[in-house]
Amino acid sequence: TPPQPGVATVTPMMEQFIEIKAANPNSLLFYRMGDFYELFFDDAEKASRALGIVLTKRGKHQGHDIPMCGVPVHAADDYLQKLIGQGFRVAVCEQIEDPAEAKKRGSKSVVRRDVVRLVTPGTITEDKLLAPSESSFLMALGRVKGGSEHSFAIAWIDISTGAFRVAETTGDRLLADIFRVDPRELIVAEPVFHDPDLKPVFDVLGRVASPQPPSLFDSASATGRIARFFEVATPDSFGTFSRAELSAISGAIAYVEKTQKAERPPLSRPEREEQGSTLFIDPATRGNLELLRTLSGSREGSLFKAIDRTVTGGGARLLADRLMAPLTDPAAIGARLDSVSFFRSEVRLCQAVRMSLKSVADMPRALSRLALNRGGPRDLGALRAGFEAAGAIAETFAATALPWELAGAMAAINALPKALAQHLTQALGEELPLLKRDGGFVRGGYHPELDEMRALRDESRKVIAGLERSLIEETGIRSLKIRHNNVLGYYIEVTANHHAVMTGSDGAKARFIHRQTMANAMRFTTTELAELETKIANAADRALSIELAAFDALTAEAVGAAEAIRAGADALAVLDVSAALAFLSESEAWCRPVVDSSLAFEISGGRHPVVEQALRRSGEGPFVANDCDLSPEGNAKNGAIWLLTGPNMGGKSTFLRQNALIAILAQTGSFVPAASAHIGVVDRLFSRVGASDDLARGRSTFMVEMVETAAILNQAGERALVILDEIGRGTATFDGLSIAWAAVEYLHEKNRCRAIFATHFHEMTSLAGKLARLSNVTMRVKEWEGDVVFLHEVGKGAADRSYGVQVARLAGLPEAVVDRAKAVLHQLEEGEVSGKTNRLVDDLPLFSVAMKREAPKPVKSDAVGAALGEINPDEMTPKEALEALYRLKGLT
Ligand code: ADP
Repeated sequence: TPPQPGVATVTPMMEQFIEIKAANPNSLLFYRMGDFYELFFDDAEKASRALGIVLTKRGKHQGHDIPMCGVPVHAADDYLQKLIGQGFRVAVCEQIEDPAEAKKRGSKSVVRRDVVRLVTPGTITEDKLLAPSESSFLMALGRVKGGSEHSFAIAWIDISTGAFRVAETTGDRLLADIFRVDPRELIVAEPVFHDPDLKPVFDVLGRVASPQPPSLFDSASATGRIARFFEVATPDSFGTFSRAELSAISGAIAYVEKTQKAERPPLSRPEREEQGSTLFIDPATRGNLELLRTLSGSREGSLFKAIDRTVTGGGARLLADRLMAPLTDPAAIGARLDSVSFFRSEVRLCQAVRMSLKSVADMPRALSRLALNRGGPRDLGALRAGFEAAGAIAETFAATALPWELAGAMAAINALPKALAQHLTQALGEELPLLKRDGGFVRGGYHPELDEMRALRDESRKVIAGLERSLIEETGIRSLKIRHNNVLGYYIEVTANHHAVMTGSDGAKARFIHRQTMANAMRFTTTELAELETKIANAADRALSIELAAFDALTAEAVGAAEAIRAGADALAVLDVSAALAFLSESEAWCRPVVDSSLAFEISGGRHPVVEQALRRSGEGPFVANDCDLSPEGNAKNGAIWLLTGPNMGGKSTFLRQNALIAILAQTGSFVPAASAHIGVVDRLFSRVGASDDLARGRSTFMVEMVETAAILNQAGERALVILDEIGRGTATFDGLSIAWAAVEYLHEKNRCRAIFATHFHEMTSLAGKLARLSNVTMRVKEWEGDVVFLHEVGKGAADRSYGVQVARLAGLPEAVVDRAKAVLHQLEEGEVSGKTNRLVDDLPLFSVAMKREAPKPVKSDAVGAALGEINPDEMTPKEALEALYRLKGLT
């Protein structure tokens, strides 16, 4: 039974615990007890399992042991990280009064405690809990009823940086939009969360999504809430928001208030994103293309990892944001490309800027911690470092004409608060402690009284050293020491065998006041030492309070300038991304794409950025560049379709993906891995590649494939780019072929979009005769002595065979199986040609027979065939022809 408050057997402390726990039922309660956070009951059981820490007992509740576990306060961040990582939410409950106050109320009174903060996946600010290059978004979903339809909006906040954005969405694209932002946490009003229509969405998101009281999302009271938070009369000045948007914004703010309690992160004003301004990428495609993470969830091997050359956390986050939301407006894309081009041509400037940026610390995150009262001297130091780097960069660019985007960034950098920068430089020392309570971070010379107090403290320390020397002389005890600890303060220590010299009532000895006897030592003090100690302590106290006052003043000044600092930090991130992309394009030999509003898709010498780099690292030889041209031909008004055939392992998937990635990169505003590229903006990118296993959700691979294909055929318009890999693989041959066939016809006739369709059904190549905008291309291979050599080259035409048996052999299938498969294949093909049934297969010798035979020599006629294939009679001299003839003769 759950513990109930007010029962007679409950101690006052437990009563307090139960009350606070009841108010925070969905979080683990970290209950502060001295130097520990302790957890009780179910919380203790969950946490001890999740953290691998000991579960013990503490007292009894209603006759039963109370399960308990605890974590030390100083290491709490690490434990929080683990718990948050496993999807828990934690309520941090602190003592909110001095224990002495409680004592005054009566001996049985417990210290007042309250939850000061809810730590949830989407609301963390600690450096330890945040990856520097990853945004940490909290998202709120707003849904309101307009007429008979629902309208939706999402608002997302990174409280560690203050970023705040909002966009409308629809039930259909909701999941895609959520994946685009990739939030750590999504909050949803309870009724919406439990709406059966949306169940599939929240099922996919799992623990990321959580239901919250509907009052948080109330669109009627939203304007009031928003105005209060930003301390403005009305949020109208931020722009016009729909009711759904207001509901989402309000939900996000209400949740921040709920989790952060008294503290208020410096959020920027909500910025509206126009629907359609970003490239729509459906969730399956986003996963399959491995933009930020691979399908297995690691960053290693993702597109982001392959292209990230940024040197700051803010830059990496901006690059990831951009990659997740490529643009659709050619002008906006062009502006970003101009920035990259600028750095590409100004190599020296590019280097200089990257150099300066390296010393930029994470300003927005430092600022957020300061504003939330979780900051320390190093956060002020981070701001100082940022200001200094910004100053250096401003100087670097002083006399340079900049393209539009960079000019805007420089304006924001120049608008960073100069006075604050100066104050930080004047006030802060070089080496900064982590915690402000340790003191020692204010620079000498900044504050006269602080200098005085420090001198006094240091002077007294010198006096103590002198005192020690004179005591040694006086007593003749060479091992006498003056030491310090937190319990006794300063004391004189001698080893036990010398105690006679110190104790006694006569003359000099009477000065020594006994404090403590240890096993081997005795400790004393004197009035002189005690006075010195008080002096030192007072000076240190005073010094610390001066430092803390300076800290608070600087923090207040920084928080007051939050908007300018954030804008400057964003601008530094823009510089970082542009310079990093320029650096990347230089070192990887990428080109600037032409992006316009045509329907062109013309890539020459395109490469797959991730595979190319992997091949280079493993030394497996160069990546073979390939062209792709899906542009409308002649006077066609729509893009073309390429039907790509070729053996497994030939490079089909790589080619499909590389073209999708090139489109994404181009619209992100990056150069692309190609010799040249002309892309008419793509508004939606669809793919059906790879077998994303959805078996956990009880769908067969084939079912998943069909669901995804259906989504594409139903949604792709003429501006879409579609890449389809081996549709119809998961079923019987004829079923599969007919589905693939019909899908291509539909793409050509109805969707009329640019598409690449890879298939192993060679029968489909005859479609080229029927569909005007469809061309056959194939991954070229060479056959050599019965083996197949992959050229990874895309050429016009169709593959004549699939080489499945040869590939199987390369994979190490037993020779007997390979031979048997060859024989079966041969018979099947014969049967097909002559129209006979496959019954013949049954007449073939079985393994038992085949295995007894020697492995056959490579079939000679194949070798002759291959050699003949390489001969071009038109280009031979008569002598060469004769020689060739002799060679061929030699092969038989
Ligand atoms: P398929 O989809 O036809 O089975 P993949 O695209 O998976 O083939 O490619 C198989 C392997 O061939 C890849 O892992 C890669 O190492 C190599 N490969 C693919 N394309 C190229 C290329 N253009 N240049 C060099 N190697 C390539």
